[in-house]
Order: sequence, then C-alpha cells, then structure tokens
Amino acid sequence: MATRARDSIEGTTRIVGILGEPVEHSLSPRMHNAAFEHLGLDYAYVPLRASSRTIGEAVLSIKTLGLAGANVTVPFKEKVIGHLDRLSPVARTVGAVNTIYPDGKRAAGLKGENTDVDGFLKALSSSGFRLRGKRVLLIGAGGAARAVLYALGKGGAREVTIANRTVARAKRLAAELPTGKTKIEICGLDMLKTPELFDGVGLVVNSTSTGLSGQLKGYDPSLSGQNCVHFDLAYGRTPTAFTRRARRKRRPAIDGRLMLLHQGVLAFNIFTGRRAPVDVMARALGLPKRR
Ligand code: NDP
Repeated sequence: MATRARDSIEGTTRIVGILGEPVEHSLSPRMHNAAFEHLGLDYAYVPLRASSRTIGEAVLSIKTLGLAGANVTVPFKEKVIGHLDRLSPVARTVGAVNTIYPDGKRAAGLKGENTDVDGFLKALSSSGFRLRGKRVLLIGAGGAARAVLYALGKGGAREVTIANRTVARAKRLAAELPTGKTKIEICGLDMLKTPELFDGVGLVVNSTSTGLSGQLKGYDPSLSGQNCVHFDLAYGRTPTAFTRRARRKRRPAIDGRLMLLHQGVLAFNIFTGRRAPVDVMARALGLPKRR
C-alpha cells in the first residue's frame, strides 16, 4: 500500500478527534494519524478538550462542524450518552460510549458505539490469555469498567470480584449489567490487602484512573498467584507503575496500549470504512512486534 506524508491540512480533510479531560496524554492522535498517512487517507485526528460543563456542546459540534467522528475518553464515556441520537446495542447495554460517528443510514444524527468491549477481549486473546472459567479481580467501576465487566461476562469468566473506592458505584454497575452465568462479588479497596481475595484469581484488571496521576495505593501484586496476569487499562508512552510493579514481582502483565490498539482498530474501521493497518498502528504506539 502506498504511503503519503501529510504536509498540510486541506479544505477537503476529514477531521476526527478525541474528546476528554485531560487529553494531552492520549496516544490516539499518534496511532490514527499514522494509519491515515499509511493508507494515504485525507483525514486528520486531533485532541478535543471538553469539560463537564461543555461536554454536551462538544458532542453537538461533531454534527454541526461535520466531523467524521470522535473517540471519547476519561471522564465522559457515560456522560456523552444523553447527547447522542442513537446507540448500538452494545453501547446501550454497557451504558458507555467510546466512539461517536454520524449515522448516515437514517436522518442525520450521531450514533454511539463501544469498541472497548471487543478491544479488551482481543487484547486478552492476542496475549494468549484464556478467559473462559477464570476468576477475575476488577479494580475500578467507572466507564471503562462497564465495558470490561460486560466483556468478562461475554468471554465466559467464572467469577468477577469488583473492588472500587465507592462501593455503591460498584453495586450499581453489577446491578445494571447483564453478565450471563458469571458470578459477581463486590468489595471496597481496603479488601485489596486481604490475601484471600486473590484465591484462584487468574486475572487482575486495573480500570481505575490512578494510572494518569500515580499508582494504586495499597495494591501488592505479590498477594496474587505466580501466574496471575495483571492488565492495566491505563497507559503511557512507557509501562505504567501498576504494570512495572507486577513485572517486578514476576507476574505477567498486559499493557493498556494493547487495548488502545484493538479498540482503535475497530473505531478506525467505523470512521473510514477501511480496514485498519494494525501493524502500523501498533508501531506508532511503541508496541513490540510480537503482541
Ligand atoms: P472513570 O472516570 O469513569 O472512572 C474512574 C475509576 O477510577 C472509578 O472507579 C474511580 O473510583 C477510580 N478512581 C479514581 N481515582 C482513584 C483513586 N485515587 N484511588 C482509587 N480509585 C480511584 O474513568 P474510565 O473508567 O473511563 O477510565 C479509567 C482508566 O482506564 C483511565 O486511565 C483510562 O485512560 C483507561 N482506559 C484505557 C483504555 C485503553 O484502551 N487502554 C480504554 C478505556 C479506558 P470512584 O468510583 O470511587 O470514583
């Protein structure tokens, strides 16, 4: 496939962006722009900073300014829903949206999709982790945790314990989401100090937003079994504190960039109607060749 270096934004350029607060840390612009450039597509991906006060207007501007779409990050995945015209069945069930695009099929309107669910499952399977029948500890109960919990049910996890700072939020999450035969337990973050919590746990997922500011206080990976996989949804340009600590204790760890890659591949297909160049996007994220 021919490649073309973008030297300017033209009047024809389609704009896609990432809505969040903060957005400076996001690697989505780098990943999508590398893919546009590789395929020679006249698209550009930009950061779109909003606030809780302006998020409604920001979503509306996707329509009024004719953007090709937008991704949504912390802390707006749940908040954007009230400003959209339609939701995919997965986004409706999960109650969180990470991809917004103009839905051309019916009268002009914005549709919300959630590619985090399948992005998470693909990141697990491409790391060689078999989820079916496993016990999982999910730390956090925000927008990303909604997608992860639904994915864990879809992927056949046997049992999930949700540990969250605000226990009521975790309870609400468990009550609202269908998880099939997967059994759900709830606890507060203080329980992370209890060795029994880790009995038979094969996967720990950190879905808190602490990765952006620092590490999850009180979490000790050595309480888990030797083969317990640690998956941090948060990511940076280098491995996060949570993944580094897990690896230091010789626990296998999955980097949040792998989920970013796979949710981004699905979003790219939606924005452009083209098959995403996965290897190009992975390279842009600094992921190793073998993923
Ligand atoms: P939300 O703001 O919706 O939720 C934040 C969660 O973190 C809540 O459970 C909150 O607890 C918890 N939390 C916040 N601060 C602390 C703290 N100091 N100590 C303990 N818990 C805390 O964020 P999202 O769910 O949308 O995103 C969470 C993370 O996942 C972000 O880092 C995001 O970048 C990442 N992410 C990565 C993706 C990827 O592709 N790799 C995809 C999606 C998300 P409480 O309920 O008590 O407030």
